[in-house]
Formats: sequence, C-alpha cells, structure tokens
Amino acid sequence: MQRDHLAWPFFDDRHRELVAHLGVWSAQHLAHAGHDTDVDAQCRSLVRDLGAAGWLRHAVAGTAYGGTTETIDTRAICLLRETLAWHHGLADFAFAMQGLGSGAISLAGTDAQRARWLPRVAEGSALAAFALSEPEAGSDVAAMRCAARDDGDAYVIDGEKTWISNGGIADFYVLFARTGESPGARGISAFVVEAGTPGFEIAERIDVIAPHPLARLRFSGCRVPKANRLGEPAEGFKIAMRTLDVFRTSVAAAALGFGRRALHEGLARAKARPMFGQRLADFQLTQARLAQMATTIDSAALLTYRAAWLRDQGRTVTREAAMAKMAATEGAQQVIDAAVQLWGGAGVVHGNVVESLYREIRALRIYEGATEVQQLIIGRDLLKEA
Ligand SMILES: Cc1cc2nc3c(=O)[nH]c(=O)nc-3n(C[C@H](O)[C@H](O)[C@H](O)COP(=O)(O)OP(=O)(O)OC[C@H]3O[C@@H](n4cnc5c(N)ncnc54)[C@H](O)[C@@H]3O)c2cc1C
Repeated sequence: MQRDHLAWPFFDDRHRELVAHLGVWSAQHLAHAGHDTDVDAQCRSLVRDLGAAGWLRHAVAGTAYGGTTETIDTRAICLLRETLAWHHGLADFAFAMQGLGSGAISLAGTDAQRARWLPRVAEGSALAAFALSEPEAGSDVAAMRCAARDDGDAYVIDGEKTWISNGGIADFYVLFARTGESPGARGISAFVVEAGTPGFEIAERIDVIAPHPLARLRFSGCRVPKANRLGEPAEGFKIAMRTLDVFRTSVAAAALGFGRRALHEGLARAKARPMFGQRLADFQLTQARLAQMATTIDSAALLTYRAAWLRDQGRTVTREAAMAKMAATEGAQQVIDAAVQLWGGAGVVHGNVVESLYREIRALRIYEGATEVQQLIIGRDLLKEA
C-alpha cells in the first residue's frame, strides 16, 4: 500500500507507526484469507483476530475500558479502515462495526455502561451493531416508528429495524427508538439491547452483493432495563448524529482503501499487459486514465483526513465529514470502474480483486447517509452560514 500521504501534517508519529505495523500484520493475516462462504463464521473469526492483535482497542474510547486513547482517535480509525479495506473488505467491515456499534457507548455511555460493554468490544469477545434504519425510515431517519414505552424499571420496545450490519451475529445492538417526548427527531432515545432478550428476534437475514452479516430485526414487547438507556431521554438523535460524524468520515477512509487498491491493481495490469506491440501502459489514453484515478484518490484523501484531523481537534465536522464521505465514495466508485476497464474481460471474473472491489464499493454510496443526503447536509450548512 502506498504510504506517501502519511507525511501529510494531519498525522502524528503514532499514526505512522500504526499504519506500518498494521500493514505488516495485514499482509501476514489477511492477504491470503480469501472469502469464506460462511460469512458469519468468517466475520466472528476476523473480530477475534483483530481483537487478539490489539487493533480493536482503537475502536473504543477510554483506556480504563480497553481503548488506546481517552477519546476516539478519528485519524487512527480512518487509517485502520483504509489499510484493512486495501487488504480485505470483510476485515474492514468487522473492524468498522465494532466501532460503529459501540460508538454511542463510547460517546454517551455512563462509566458503568462503558465498563460493561467496551472492554469486550476491544478484545473482540463481543460483537456490536448499530440499529437506526427502518423499512420506512432510511434516509428520513426522523420518520422512525420503532417505539420504546416507559414502563417502571424498563422500556418496552415494539417495532422493526432493517439493514442492520452484524444483525444475527451481534452480542448487543445500540438501538434508536421513539420515546415520544416530541415529534420527529427530538423524540428518539438510544438503548443497548442484548442478543437473546425476550421479545427480540431476527426476522430476516439479507443477502447483499458484497456479502456480510445483515438482518431485519423485530421487537415485540421487548423489555429493556432502564439502566441500558444511553444518555438522557430524547437525546437519541443527537447521539446517533455524533456517532455518524466519526463513522461517516471512516466510511470515506474505507472507500480510499478500496480506491487505492484498485489503482494498484490497474497500474500492475497496465504495465504487464502486452497490446498492439507495446504495453497497455504505453498509451496516452491509459496514462490519462491513471492520472485521473490518482488525482481522484488524493483529493478524497485530503478531504477525509481534514475531517478526521478537525474532529480530533474537538471541532464539529458535520459538513466536512459529509464532503469527505461524498467525495471519497463517489470517487472510489469511478476509480474502481476504471480499474475494471483496464483489466478488460478479466476484470469481471469472479475472484479477481477488481471484481470484488466493484461489488464492495457500491453500498458505501448508500449507507450512513446516501450521497444525496450528504449533499443536503452540505448545502444546508452553507446556507445557514451565508
Ligand atoms: C450494506 C448495507 C449496510 C447497512 N448497515 C446499516 C446498519 O448497520 N445500521 C443501520 O441503521 N442502517 C444500515 N444500513 C441502512 C442505510 O443506512 C440505508 O440503506 C440508507 O440510509 C438509505 O436508506 P434506504 O435504503 O431506506 O433508502 P431510501 O431512504 O429509500 O433512499 C433511496 C434513495 O433516495 C435518494 N435520496 C435520499 N434522500 C434524498 C433526497 N432528499 N432527495 C433526493 N434523493 C434522495 C438516495 O439516492 C437514496 O439512495 C445499511 C445499508 C446497506 C445497504
């Protein structure tokens, strides 16, 4: 993997060391991991391996709870995702879900809540999930219907969640449900629901083009202790958005990893492929394509690490994270498509790296806010400021 961008001023030495160690570890543990047909088992085993190697400690905040830093180190999370994505899409997914699934606990949990769940996330012995989307509330999160009714020492949850990554294999789910203090976004609270809680079931497993564990969840009279509520009542939407400010930027970083790998594969093919008495790389059309790929990646990387750096300085980065996610995911899609084109017929054969990148990248333009949602966030923020 190219490391030139690590010389950029966004990073500290510990970030450079992290990438150097992770690069060696990934080459040893992931390069030949392949893609298991049992995606649940492979995901569990990747989480165990990432935990044993200490990488998941970067997914949680608080050294008392297994983390490497007291607050979330956005740059470290982004560099981890970029590197893992370069090597193995499912390894990136496994790391990302430990962070996204526990992010609300790191950001808004009490000491007791953090002590209960974060150490297990950091060591890889518990899998986490983030349950926000619903069949009728994807982009329009505030339309959520899943309800949590106050009932003595518990909340009673009724409703559905869908597209939940790690659904079916997670040990706990950070769930957002309507507690009704106000209509829309201001009447939502956050909870931790443990797998196996009576009244909680996996209604459907969902099969997607780049396979990873995904499910629709159903809650019917599911009693969750009040001690499992994160933050105050009605703070759920704010907690979800704070979590997404970190993890949206990390989606951009994963897209960078996929895009950089595609450029690497495209360069290798262009240099190796004989054509018309020359090599594919010798044609100016090819050089223009490669130039566009590299420029797209570097511009997205600048936006991504600007957002990560700003957040680590304590700044609100909703606009910057949205710009990074939009530019990096849309850009990586173009870069990967260009790499497939360079590979010709071989580029669409199952098992070819660029073929799997082509499937891996697609959902990133949709989840954690589709590109159009990022456009709205950026546009509204510009207008608010003008
Ligand atoms: C692989 C995968 C994993 C996921 N993992 C999780 C998870 O772990 N947890 C979780 O909570 N959710 C998860 N999601 C859900 C994801 O966040 C939603 O799919 C996403 O928010 C879009 O919602 P939707 O699918 O209902 O599409 P819709 O909301 O129906 O949107 C459809 C399309 O409409 C367009 N659009 C949206 N808003 C506008 C607008 N204002 N103007 C014009 N066009 C617009 C966009 O192109 C969008 O793609 C996952 C999704 C996928 C595909």
